[in-house]
Amino acid sequence: MARLDIHVLGSPILRQETELVTQITPELRRLVDDMFETMDAANGVGLAAPQVGRIERLAVVDADDQRLVIINPEIVSKAGGLVRGEEGCLSIPEVYGDVDRHALVTVRAQDIDGNWFEIEDAGDLLGRCLQHEIDHLHGKIFFDRLSLLKKRRAVREWEEEKTKYPRNVRVLPVGDLPPEKSATADT
Ligand code: ZN
Repeated sequence: MARLDIHVLGSPILRQETELVTQITPELRRLVDDMFETMDAANGVGLAAPQVGRIERLAVVDADDQRLVIINPEIVSKAGGLVRGEEGCLSIPEVYGDVDRHALVTVRAQDIDGNWFEIEDAGDLLGRCLQHEIDHLHGKIFFDRLSLLKKRRAVREWEEEKTKYPRNVRVLPVGDLPPEKSATADT
């Protein structure tokens, strides 16, 4: 497995629509393995393909004791109204914002063998993470869902942070995994 470089905000691929996965190839399995490794190394709870410069419609998540790959995922139902919570993103390091998400979502996706499955009524961190990752698969980032004032502040913070990432790429350090995942979700 390998740690992949993470594209940060400013990289055009983060704003592109992804393409449906039609075939589970050995190369795709390797990509998924590498994405899990990259997410863990970056101390994240989710990672979508565009964040590693790929256009396949898939993401990995590790939240609320659920470690999943979701291929061609779709939200099939929403319930419980909206809940506000703080989010971060591995593609926008050090910038956080309050985002309204559906309290519960049911997501339909394919697993690594191509079998369809449903994650029913996902809430809490998992529900938020699934919504965040599915946004990524349609060229959306959490900034798009912030109120105008909070978005302005987040954009200003990112203007300073982004100077640390020449060519819009974040290279993860080689070495041991971080000891544990932080309380704030970076996806
Ligand atoms: Zn993200």
